[in-house]
Amino acid sequence: MSTALFAGSFNPFTRGHLRIVERALKFSDKVIIAIGCNIHKASETDLDSRVNAIQKAVKPMGEKVEVCSYTGLTAEFAQKTGADFLLRGVRGITDFEYERNLADVNLKVLGMDTVFLIAEPEFSYLSSSTVRELAAHGHDVSSLLPPMND
Ligand code: ADP
Repeated sequence: MSTALFAGSFNPFTRGHLRIVERALKFSDKVIIAIGCNIHKASETDLDSRVNAIQKAVKPMGEKVEVCSYTGLTAEFAQKTGADFLLRGVRGITDFEYERNLADVNLKVLGMDTVFLIAEPEFSYLSSSTVRELAAHGHDVSSLLPPMND
């Protein structure tokens, strides 16, 4: 039984994030999506509603996907949940530099490994901040977000 912890701000959770979860389920039994309070990023949306929205998005995947929120160090939280590794997505070179640094610390200091999935080309441009920006200017962002299942 292998469990991945996919941590992020998910503000909002996009189709790009959803694809990472779907692809990870091909090689892990369970994915825990954990919304972290990152002090470097504003978390203007209420955490509970973000958890709710993600739960609706991942409903078709059933019990293999769990959604929660956490505070503190990601790798410490991962250990508490019993996750075997951290899961992250990489869209390009900018993500890579940032992610490599994080992965390095998480492995050296906390002994937690990170598995990376390279974004598919059709999602490599997609970021939560782009979605927020477009939405703030009145654009329809529904094609960038996963379908919500009730
Ligand atoms: P964080 O604040 O931790 O970077 P994000 O919600 O922005 O949180 O991203 C969470 C993870 O998902 C990161 O590893 C990020 O690189 C990845 N990610 C974000 N958007 C995409 C996308 N379109 N395709 C693949 N991975 C993505």
